[in-house]
Amino acid sequence: MAGWLDRLLGRKPPVSQGFARPHFRFFPGAYEFCAGGDDVFRAEAGPCDACGMCDIHAYQGIVYTARQEQPTVCAQCIADGRLATFLNEAHVSLHDAEVAELDWRDPLVVDVQQRTPGFATFNPFTWPVHDGLPMAFMGYGDEERWKYVPDVLAAMRAANEGKDCFPTPYALIFKQVDGPAYRAVLDFD
Ligand SMILES: [Zn+2]
Repeated sequence: MAGWLDRLLGRKPPVSQGFARPHFRFFPGAYEFCAGGDDVFRAEAGPCDACGMCDIHAYQGIVYTARQEQPTVCAQCIADGRLATFLNEAHVSLHDAEVAELDWRDPLVVDVQQRTPGFATFNPFTWPVHDGLPMAFMGYGDEERWKYVPDVLAAMRAANEGKDCFPTPYALIFKQVDGPAYRAVLDFD
């Protein structure tokens, strides 16, 4: 390590974050998620722009910010809200989405918009809410595993005017947090 250089320049050497993987309740599979080669996070040396730590899970998605340059940000800074504090913009978001029924003053909306990593979508969409709680994003509608989950197939049918549409990559699958309900949102190219 170039610790001597940091001392010479009066810098603090970067601290290792040990590739922390905090849990995201509205996107529980974020670390395993990879569609078409697009990982949500990648293990990188860093450092994170927000916390300055190295050895991070760096966010690969889009940060909707007024800044010209996309920041390098770690999973931990997304999870604990430090990214939003660092950017210091009222409506920083990681999604091209509105959260149904809830407005920006609701902390749950901030939780979804700023403290939940994003995933690739074609169009702005409405993030579904179940009993006042945003639902969790589970993946796209073309995954083999949904074939064996009748509730997902039914949710996709309901979103598609009653017609079967499995498999399709244009469906976003959501699940009730700590509950069995599924919802599909269609997002056509
Ligand atoms: Zn960070």
